Amino acid sequence: MTEKLLQLEKVTKVFRRAGLGLVREKSTRALDEISLTMYPEPAIVALVGESGSGKTTVCRLILGLKKASSGQILYKDRDVSQWLEKDWKNYRKEVQIVFQDPYGTYNPFYRVDRVLWTVIKKFHLTSSDRESRQLIDESLEAVGLRPREILGRYPHQLSGGERQRFMLARIYLMKPNLLVCDEPVSMIDAALRAMFLDHLRDFKKLGISCLYITHDLNIAYFIADSVVILCSGQIIESGKTESVVTDPLHPYTKELISSIPNPDPRKKWTEKLEAESVGLQKLGKGAGEQGCIFYDRCRYAMAKCEKKRPSLVKTKDREVACFLTLEAN
Ligand code: SF4
Repeated sequence: MTEKLLQLEKVTKVFRRAGLGLVREKSTRALDEISLTMYPEPAIVALVGESGSGKTTVCRLILGLKKASSGQILYKDRDVSQWLEKDWKNYRKEVQIVFQDPYGTYNPFYRVDRVLWTVIKKFHLTSSDRESRQLIDESLEAVGLRPREILGRYPHQLSGGERQRFMLARIYLMKPNLLVCDEPVSMIDAALRAMFLDHLRDFKKLGISCLYITHDLNIAYFIADSVVILCSGQIIESGKTESVVTDPLHPYTKELISSIPNPDPRKKWTEKLEAESVGLQKLGKGAGEQGCIFYDRCRYAMAKCEKKRPSLVKTKDREVACFLTLEAN
């Protein structure tokens, strides 16, 4: 059996708020039995969803910042919930995160040189200072930064774009197996966004996979080999980007795709298409706990859709959670 790089197996996350006095305990199901697999071959997978769809929770679970309520997260076929501290240390080298704005992750009193030197020392990346200096220069140049202009500066002296690229240089230095990018370009302008995404593609050529979490479908189309559509904590469709874009099967995905102004999203990827813009944040309220989460808004809804929730079913080229697809197959 092929070893998987990362696997989420029926992961559910329920957040509970304790009751107080007359206020009853409240629980929110942020994720509902989601499964997602990334293989060792380098690939970019986009996890697309509106705010509140659960995509940031996925990110936190993968990074070990939260624990799943049920289900398993496996890295290289090993269950992360069973790990010891040394396993986490290795994981944090092999799986890296890219945030929206990396500023908060840097110590403002440390020059950027020190950030890179610390990484090199912590993970024993080189065997001499000379090698370290070479690696630092190589990493900065690989992401379009000039070492002489960047080194010696403090994080607050870098522009937003430079900080993003500096974070990429840190990643280049470590050469992880997997990058988890949580809306990394939402705070930078279109030109820098293009450059940033090109670097992610270059990283893929170096063997670095990427789970790209976004609400911006155009970016997902531009960069991803495959897309996973998350809606109210459930995966409703996933497959190769080209198939899902050109022939969406789930009514939710169809609605998203039909909102794209240009039929070739690669040509206009700099124009954001946000899931929120089609009003999908109102989902999941009318069908009850048991029904399809898209029931309220689905023009194809049938009686059974209100009573029963469709599970994710494999078709010839993807997975879809919709009774229509089930009946057609
Ligand atoms: Fe629409 Fe029913 Fe499919 Fe849900 S299961 S998306 S309500 S047709």
